[in-house]
This record gives sequence, C-alpha cells and structure tokens, in this order.
Amino acid sequence: MKYLKCPVCEKFATTKKEKNERFEYQCFVCGSFTISEQLFVSFNKKFTTSDERVCLSNYLSLQKHTTLSNINFNDTVKYLVKPNPAERADNLFLYLAHLNQEIGSVIPYAELIEFLTYIFAPSALPSKASFYDKQFATDFKYVLRAYSQSHSFKYSEIEGLIDSFLIKEKKYLEEGYGSFRTFNHHPGLIITPRGWSFFNENIRGVDSSQGFIAIDFDPKFNDLIEWIKAAIKEAGYSPMCLKGHDHNVIIDDEMYLQIRKSKFLIADLSSDNNGAYFEAGFALGLDKDVIPTCKEGHSPHFDINHRLLTKWNPDDPEKFIKALTNRILNTIGEG
Ligand SMILES: [Zn+2]
Repeated sequence: MKYLKCPVCEKFATTKKEKNERFEYQCFVCGSFTISEQLFVSFNKKFTTSDERVCLSNYLSLQKHTTLSNINFNDTVKYLVKPNPAERADNLFLYLAHLNQEIGSVIPYAELIEFLTYIFAPSALPSKASFYDKQFATDFKYVLRAYSQSHSFKYSEIEGLIDSFLIKEKKYLEEGYGSFRTFNHHPGLIITPRGWSFFNENIRGVDSSQGFIAIDFDPKFNDLIEWIKAAIKEAGYSPMCLKGHDHNVIIDDEMYLQIRKSKFLIADLSSDNNGAYFEAGFALGLDKDVIPTCKEGHSPHFDINHRLLTKWNPDDPEKFIKALTNRILNTIGEG
C-alpha cells in the first residue's frame, strides 16, 4: 500500500478517500478523521508551527472520528495546549505500556522505529522487510501513534523522552533483552516495577477494548467460558480470561492488572466459589461496568440479586450468547 503525507502530522502514514466533497483520512499517527473540501483548500496555511500540528494530531488520535471544517476548525484548535516534557514522557510511557501489558515482555522499540523509517522513505526498504510478519506490521502500525500520544513531531523527540525521562529520570523503562531476541539484536525496552506501579495508578484513563471474564476455573465451566468469549467478541471487544492465559507472575497481580485494563467485566455467579464475586467487587470499585451471569435455576448471593442477571442454560448456548451480546451492546456500547 502506498502512503500519503498526512495533512496534519506530515508523516507518510495516511490513506485518503474522497467522499461527498470531503476527504476521509486514516492516519497511523492521527487516527481517522475527515476534512471538508473547503477547509482542505487552505489547510496548510492554518498551521504556523509544528506545535500546532502535534496538538491537533494528539487531539484527533484521542477521538473516535472527527470531521474538521471551516466552521469548527478554530474552536477545535483554540484550547489545545502542548504539555510539558515530563507530562509528554508520562503519556508516551502509558501508551507504550498499554501496548505491551504482559509483564516481562520487551518492547522492540528500536526495530519498530527502524521499520518506521522505511515507511517514511519506502524506496529505502530493504528486501529483509519480507521477514516482517503480519503481527509485526500490526505492532508497527500502533507504534506510530507514539508520535501523537507524546506530542512529538520528530523521532528525536521520542528518543529524548525515552532516554532522558523514562529511562534515566523516572526509571519506568530499562534497556534489555528479556527472553526475547530482537531481529536486529538491538536491546528492547523493558518496563520496570516502578513503571508498572505508575501504569496501574493511571490505567483508568486509557481507553480499553478488553472485557474481563471472572469465572470459576472448574472444567465444568469450560464451555461457558467459550460462550462468554463469543459474546464479548460479537460486541466488538477482546475477551480476557486468566484461565489458560500465559503469565509468569503471581496470578493475583495479573488479575488486578487485567481487570484494571478492562473496560468491563462479566462475572459468572453460577458457582459458590467466591473469586468471581471478589473480582466483580474489585471492578465495581474501579467504576467499571459489571455484567453478572448465572445458570438458570441457580440463586446467586443476595447482594447481587437485584442486578439483572443474564441467565444461561447449557441446552441453549446460542440464546445466551445473543442475550449477553445485546446486554453488552446496550449497556457498554459497541467495541
Ligand atoms: Zn497524521
């Protein structure tokens, strides 16, 4: 695919579609947005500094989709302020950690950035690029957002935020390999315990597409886990169930982390195991939406009885999946 230069961030990371006198952009840095044709004509003249561009790029990246026109442009950019470098470093860290939430995982940042230079200069792309698989391309796509998340215009700014603030001063990151070998043998970035604490305290501000499943791990509920996963996916979210999840830390810590980073939690109360109740309570304390489910005929603990239960019957999983999908769509919205 050929990438165009984005009219906002000026990176070659954008595709464009024309539709009804509007230009629809998909930019790896800014996200998706539309510019009216009238505004487009004078768009470049609207910016006098690169700070204005990075502020708008950051704003667009945080919105689902914005349509910019002559009517709203000035009001949109008027209140955008570039944060100080320490805040930018924090935002960059939260973004990188959000992409790499498995403790012990290594952020192959140097490699991603190397690949990134090729997309800005596609002719320099060496043949080795064919080694990069689909997953890598996906990671790479998301790493481009580091520009907008950290209000950076040049890569040297991102590098400076990582080296001076995140590694040296704040000590949220350190260089290393972990158990992971990067393609070019550059060290990656590893999140330190201090970094994880900061991440945990701030995770609520991060938009999540994850739905957590709190359930008794008894094998008799294995089918139910699959049905709940199907409903979460159907509603447009990614299911997270710690059963079978590859983790190498104490499960409690992983559980807290995964609930914190989830948008909502499905708690199945068909068992007398207290775990699901505890996890539901923890999520409610974090202001997360909790959807309780229960086997038909089973009476859950009284404290949760007043909440609307989505009931399941092993003889009709389809009905349950549909009901749960609708419940997620109605209470939380489409993911
Ligand atoms: Zn852009």
